[in-house]
Amino acid sequence: MPSKHGSALWASCGSISAEVRTLAALDREIVACRRCPRLISWCEEVAATKRAAYRDDDYWGRPVPGLGDDPRIWIVGLAPAAHGANRTGRMFTGDRSGDWLFAALHRAGLAALPTSTSRDDGQRLSGVRITAAVHCAPPANKPTTEERAECGHWLREELGIVQDRVRVILPLGGIAWSAVSSTLRQEGWRVPAVRFGHGAEAEVVPESGRPVTVLGSYHPSQQNTFTGRLTEAMLDEVLARACELAGSPARTS
Ligand code: SF4
Repeated sequence: MPSKHGSALWASCGSISAEVRTLAALDREIVACRRCPRLISWCEEVAATKRAAYRDDDYWGRPVPGLGDDPRIWIVGLAPAAHGANRTGRMFTGDRSGDWLFAALHRAGLAALPTSTSRDDGQRLSGVRITAAVHCAPPANKPTTEERAECGHWLREELGIVQDRVRVILPLGGIAWSAVSSTLRQEGWRVPAVRFGHGAEAEVVPESGRPVTVLGSYHPSQQNTFTGRLTEAMLDEVLARACELAGSPARTS
């Protein structure tokens, strides 16, 4: 069932048609990117060998584009999971981290469905775009420094498209926080020296324009959620704060 406050929630945001086209073009360029040979090879190899549980699936096996065309809250993850987004072709779709993230987005009224299983499952985001610091699944979930820098090109490009609209940047985890910080600095934003933490906030300011809040959250990785380092309540609190900063209260289901 679609989110209750879905499009109405962000109805005051104005027209986004031009932005939609531009983000769609960016996503097409990302999918065609081949800048990191090691990662491209890994994505293709995983797609060819598959995990037994998904042997009947047609793996995506390429760079994964962003999701969502209304980036008032701009969520930045680390990288696709080998058998998650690298399989389904959609950010945080088809793995445990995504289960956590989309359930929380749904509780906050920002996602139509509490689950995210495939590109054609009917999921829709409202007021949110999800992207990643690195768009290709890396071996052992660890992109190299060079690969992170290479994919920073796309984060800078995306920032250029969303910056007039974004109110809150929500990096998931310390690596995404660092990627966001360095991207903003490279693009001339004033970025205070705030250490990453769950709930940490930094007000960042472009050369011209209004301030935006960077709001940190622990990544909903299995390592964090299994150990209780990140609980549902903690994720709900961060998303409620993001909604508050973006101009609308969160809804819990
Ligand atoms: S990680 Fe980014 S820069 Fe590297 S190949 Fe994938 S999309 Fe391109």
